[in-house]
Amino acid sequence: MKKLLLAIPFCLSASVMAAGAPVGIVIHGGAGTIDRSKMTEEQRQDYEATLTKAVNQGYELLAAGGSSLDAVTLAVTVLEDSPLFNAGKGAVYTWDENHELDAAIMTGQDRNAGAVASVTNVKNPILLARAVMEKSDHVMLTGIGAEQFAAAQQLELVDNSYFNTEFRYEALKKAKQARQKLPQQATVEVDPGWKMGTVGAVAIDNTGNLAAATSTGGMTAKRWGRVGDVPVIGAGNFADNSSCAVSGTGHGEYFIRYNVASDICARVKYQGKTAATAANEVITELLQVGGTGGVIVVDNKGELSWAFNTQGMYRAKRNYAGTVVEIFATETEKAGN
Ligand code: ASP
Repeated sequence: MKKLLLAIPFCLSASVMAAGAPVGIVIHGGAGTIDRSKMTEEQRQDYEATLTKAVNQGYELLAAGGSSLDAVTLAVTVLEDSPLFNAGKGAVYTWDENHELDAAIMTGQDRNAGAVASVTNVKNPILLARAVMEKSDHVMLTGIGAEQFAAAQQLELVDNSYFNTEFRYEALKKAKQARQKLPQQATVEVDPGWKMGTVGAVAIDNTGNLAAATSTGGMTAKRWGRVGDVPVIGAGNFADNSSCAVSGTGHGEYFIRYNVASDICARVKYQGKTAATAANEVITELLQVGGTGGVIVVDNKGELSWAFNTQGMYRAKRNYAGTVVEIFATETEKAGN
């Protein structure tokens, strides 16, 4: 009996620490104008509870020896199933009052990746992205073809109305009003507080493998088959064991043009920068060209970090040092440190 008691802590510490790196996970639920005065105490608690649930489930899986791929899949699935975030259940509306969802997943040990764009009836697009990576010869599937593949993989399908929420419908109405003034634009910049909520997770497991997963409904009032940064590998989602894993959220067009996720990892790999420094640089430079948003990062030593150029980002992280759950920018972050 005594032996067993001694063995348990050893097993736990062996699984939490391996390959010289502690296991860890970071998640986000979108970045943007998060107005403290407009958020009720109850709303804040709801957001924090869901972020906590997602980060804990991901971490517990890692601590039990699970893979970073399974941990990011699980955390993103939890966030997709919540109506609070712009992914899965809470996806924003298109101009035509439907929902078109994008997602991507990537593993750092082999740079394997799967992505889906503009799917309308898959309950958890992140599971479809993973199926594309693991069960097809392709990296990205779109629209009807992606949905046929989802059916063939026996993933859970739902009617598009499953994604309807009152809150996001109000956002669409506001976006349509704003659009009257901007007839040339394919997407509309409404108050980002109404459109944010893309979700993502990055993790490192006890073999030192990195993984990243991101899922989104895209931008409110998008039209003409607009696809954002999330399924574009290297833009909104990226993982490479030689550097880091990144998941982004923000104005997707900028993330695509500036290859945000892979640029952060390239600075770590080729310039020897820490992931936190590289993320801060890229997100600061992005704002200089007009791109708002943020990223979460885990590097191949297990350092967890985030950076954003907005008022806040729904975010949480957990490793051996404990759990942090935040929504608004802290004083240190506001000061640019
Ligand atoms: N990046 C997402 C997109 O452009 C939106 C978001 O993160 O809020 O599709």
